[in-house]
Amino acid sequence: NPVSGDAIRRRFLEFYASRSHKVLPSASLVPDDPTVLLTIAGMLQFKPIFLGKAPRQVPRATTAQKCIRTNDVENVGRTTRHHTFFEMLGNFSFGDYFKKEAIKWAWELSTKEFGLPADRLWVSVYEDDDEAFEIWHDEVGVPAEHIKRMGEEDNFWTSGATGPCGPCSELYYDFHPERGYKNTDLGDDSRFIEFYNLVFMQYNKMDDGSLEPLKQKNIDTGLGLERLARILQKVPNNYETDLIYPIIEKAAELANISYALADDRTKMNLKIIGDHLRAIVYLISDGVLPSNIGRGYVVRRLIRRAVRIGRLLGVSGGGEDGAFLPAIAEKVIEMSPHIDPDVKARGHGILDELQREELRFVQTLERGEKLLDQMLAEALLNAQKSETLPFLSGKEVFLLYDTFGFPVEITTEVAGERGVKIDMDGFEVEMENQRRQSQAAHNIVKLAVENGGDLAENVHDTEFLGYDTLSARAVVES
Ligand code: ATP
Ligand code: MG
Ligand code: MG
Ligand code: MG
Repeated sequence: NPVSGDAIRRRFLEFYASRSHKVLPSASLVPDDPTVLLTIAGMLQFKPIFLGKAPRQVPRATTAQKCIRTNDVENVGRTTRHHTFFEMLGNFSFGDYFKKEAIKWAWELSTKEFGLPADRLWVSVYEDDDEAFEIWHDEVGVPAEHIKRMGEEDNFWTSGATGPCGPCSELYYDFHPERGYKNTDLGDDSRFIEFYNLVFMQYNKMDDGSLEPLKQKNIDTGLGLERLARILQKVPNNYETDLIYPIIEKAAELANISYALADDRTKMNLKIIGDHLRAIVYLISDGVLPSNIGRGYVVRRLIRRAVRIGRLLGVSGGGEDGAFLPAIAEKVIEMSPHIDPDVKARGHGILDELQREELRFVQTLERGEKLLDQMLAEALLNAQKSETLPFLSGKEVFLLYDTFGFPVEITTEVAGERGVKIDMDGFEVEMENQRRQSQAAHNIVKLAVENGGDLAENVHDTEFLGYDTLSARAVVES
């Protein structure tokens, strides 16, 4: 019997509890930190301690932290390992133990506690971190061929543009050891999966980008629960673990289809539903309600994407109003107690909110879909006549956006499915015109920028598809 996700979480926490770590609850997905929009890692609740701004309550802690990473939204269902919502298991040292213990325990946890074969494990270290290299090599006994020195992008971890940071060392699992040692690239996800990141947190990154040494040396780690579950449960991707698959099954059942028999595109869409429904439920539970700015807009977009994809799949909620998100969300709530013990009690409120938002969106969606369909047919026809590539003009995209509340990323997605590009530059021009013309819109934009100014530095983590700015979002409301 493969180990369940719940058991992996429990055993991780117990492993570190028996090494004098205090087990602390997950913090909210809404961080108590103006520089970050949503909780992207386990370290966030400890940031003031790392920075020396708050006293440590304990020298060592361990958590299973709920996380949201919107910068991974495009990876959802496409890679085997990325979610918007996931749990990060972590062990932390606040000026207590450092590299040696962190590395040795990570190894012991992986090989002894969870029984991963040593010859399947590879590690990375920061390019000039000889100390970490030597601990892995001389003390743990990892062969040099299995230790890769990597650059800043992979092996220097920062939680945002500023704040505590440091070099890191990561553990990877090898699905194909028969491919040998030569020409290996740990980034090759057909072969490897990164599952555990050990951050040697010893600097504070300042506004000007310089690194100031922290008073104490700390340890901050993150192990992706769904990734370890996927390795241990021997399934082809995180989505087919017991942490997510029941949600997918529920959606498939409501669509009258079978995941196992489905084609790749359908499978991907079911994975997106499985992912987004978790994110949506846990965000609403933490008080993030759908709206047109900031965090609320993150939820709104996840809901809208899930609705659109669910409709593509033919998911039906069975009720009179046709809403189906609540029926799937019930499964998420049912599975929630070990992830977040507060969700169940908030269940009714979450389902109500979802139903309202879904119905509201379906109305605009239906009108927008008709219009978009006409536009696409016309674009394809024009392209054929003039022997050019089919595209939607900025004006068309703007009309859908402004008049029909049709999110731009959905226009892009639907158009892409039919091989039609959209003119984003033209769209931005339309947005700019509107901004200039409308004093009311202008005020809202100002408001959004004021609220969002602090968040600007984390925009790469809060952006959905990269081209929709905070201020652009606000204009929709007016
Ligand atoms: P990747 O390179 O695979 O995108 P990462 O380097 O961005 O991962 P870290 O910031 O090091 O991830 O986070 C620590 C751990 O959290 C990762 O090793 C992984 O196990 C897990 N993790 C990170 N992002 C995700 C995600 N989007 N979905 C699921 N697990 C994740
Ligand atoms: Mg990543
Ligand atoms: Mg990585
Ligand atoms: Mg990493």
